[in-house]
Amino acid sequence: MVDDFDVIVVGAGMAGSAAAIRLAQGGASVLLLERGAEAGSKNLSGGILWGNDLARVLPNWQEAMPVERHLVRKRFGFLTPDRALSFDFDDSAWRKAPYVAHTVLRARTDRWLAQKAEEAGATVVSGVPVERLAWEGRTVVGVVQGGETTRAPVTIVADGTNSRLTLGTPIRPKARLEDDATELGIKEVYRLDPARLEERFQLGPGEAHAEEWVLGIYPPGVMAGGFLYTNRDTISLGVVVSVASLYGGKAYAHDLVETFKQQPTIRRAIEGGELVEYGAKLISSGWASRPAAFHGDGWLVAGDAAGFVFSNGIVIQGMNYAIRTGLEAAETSLAAHAARDASAARLADYDRRLEAAGVLADFRDFEGLDRVKWNARIYSYYPRFATELFHELMDPGEGRKEHLWRTMRKAQRAVGLGSGALLWDGLELVREM
Ligand SMILES: Cc1cc2nc3c(=O)[nH]c(=O)nc-3n(C[C@H](O)[C@H](O)[C@H](O)COP(=O)(O)OP(=O)(O)OC[C@H]3O[C@@H](n4cnc5c(N)ncnc54)[C@H](O)[C@@H]3O)c2cc1C
Repeated sequence: MVDDFDVIVVGAGMAGSAAAIRLAQGGASVLLLERGAEAGSKNLSGGILWGNDLARVLPNWQEAMPVERHLVRKRFGFLTPDRALSFDFDDSAWRKAPYVAHTVLRARTDRWLAQKAEEAGATVVSGVPVERLAWEGRTVVGVVQGGETTRAPVTIVADGTNSRLTLGTPIRPKARLEDDATELGIKEVYRLDPARLEERFQLGPGEAHAEEWVLGIYPPGVMAGGFLYTNRDTISLGVVVSVASLYGGKAYAHDLVETFKQQPTIRRAIEGGELVEYGAKLISSGWASRPAAFHGDGWLVAGDAAGFVFSNGIVIQGMNYAIRTGLEAAETSLAAHAARDASAARLADYDRRLEAAGVLADFRDFEGLDRVKWNARIYSYYPRFATELFHELMDPGEGRKEHLWRTMRKAQRAVGLGSGALLWDGLELVREM
């Protein structure tokens, strides 16, 4: 059988487009297939693109790509229904190019990236949902769409989280939706006049502010974090919740963002904004969500489809890993193309590259994070404990001031948090972070 392309890439997200750009730059004939009407139309992401991985293929991307703003400040904190406790990280180095991170809206960035793939020489076809991978025995020989097989020696699967193309195949024999590794992200975007936005968040032109919150605003057992990022003339905000923590009807997904927005600190942050976009998407993060393998005969899997989303409660980083793994998949495919060998033995080079790039170590080393992050006490007790402690510390009171130790014990008693649990959670946090 004659091959139609040297490499087929499925999914024009960050992983797929980065791979296609590198493949085309490297002289391979590459087909990039996207199910959305155009790249980005089906994408949703909270919106901070960390790092400079794209510079490997697009040296001036920070000036050329339609990013929103560059990040200058990050706020972390606890929210209860009526209190907020947070601290800001503000680093002067973040104000200098090349910037450490940017807020992005995927409808804009993904379209631009797919265009770059096309300009580099890739064949980009949108509005094409690939039905399945074409298997001959244990080898992937291309993709099937509309009953037709398009063939290539190597297929890079970059179809995102909950990858349908790999489920039930040797790549990912079983779904892992039921476990703690699966989170649901729900996001809304509010339009706000840029001058008002900059004044409200004390930003200069082009600068972005980001917030991440541990949410103690839901019924006990519901484990969720909240985020708020500033774009050019919009604010992205939303909630990421452990799917398992919603079981039993403790709360309903559609109410979560509503409750978050009603919290006074958040309500003030988006006051006067007009809702222009909303959506929801699953996130499978961490080592537990990896497939059975990252490569095999004729295939490689990159980005979210391979479970490469790092989320530790302080940052959520998936786009940078998607780009990095997409680029490593492309390099591996180019070497396989040059050697005329797309066997699993040759494509094993992908795992070596992921190891050398630090990707596998990042996920292996922080395997225990989900246990720490999805500990119900973090959400049910700590926001109330921390805000109660500060309330007590700042209360001028009537009589004598109490020693910090006593105040802490008082706050613990007020929320029902035992010292053993506090000590244990502290140690776990230090060990796993
Ligand atoms: C609410 C939320 C907030 C997030 N916040 C951040 C953040 O702040 N920073 C960060 O770095 N990461 C964040 N992430 C994670 C980040 O969005 C992902 O890690 C990243 O998008 C992964 O890129 P990808 O290319 O692997 O997959 P995707 O971006 O999901 O791209 C996959 C593409 O494949 C296409 N596709 C799927 N199936 C098919 C098919 N059968 N045929 C053809 N095309 C197909 C899809 O339409 C899509 O375009 C967040 C995620 C969510 C849900």
